[in-house]
Amino acid sequence: MVFQLLQFNTYYSILKGSPFILKVGNILTEFALQKLVINTIKSMSWKGSTDGKSILKVENPSIQYLVHQEEGKFLCSCGFSRAFKLPCEHVLSFLSEKKQEDQILGYIDIRWRNSIQIPKEDSVSNELKKIIEEKGKIEEMNDQDVQHVENSL
Ligand SMILES: [Zn+2]
Repeated sequence: MVFQLLQFNTYYSILKGSPFILKVGNILTEFALQKLVINTIKSMSWKGSTDGKSILKVENPSIQYLVHQEEGKFLCSCGFSRAFKLPCEHVLSFLSEKKQEDQILGYIDIRWRNSIQIPKEDSVSNELKKIIEEKGKIEEMNDQDVQHVENSL
């Protein structure tokens, strides 16, 4: 566990300036960011085949996955993307090979974005502030009423 965290921190410090992390790093949940960083590191050991239909392990080209395009998006046969709704190491490799790093957001499911929670929190605290302010006004009014009654006695 500690080793994993150290490993992640090392990877992250290497990659924080990379196109993928710059594009989406600040909007992801911690889990999704960890997966993305690790897959980006792993993506460096893969290379697209010359016909562009599969991806090969650089050090052992007999290990390969099929990659095809559907509606402008790369789909990989490894199953990671389908399971996690995050780009796998092979798709990341394709994206950087094709200089399509800016397309990465299209491969990340909405569930992994944490930015949508920030405005919600803001609106909750604004609501609370309003309620407290109004409660204060009502108490002020009650005080005035009490004084008014006292004066008229
Ligand atoms: Zn894959």
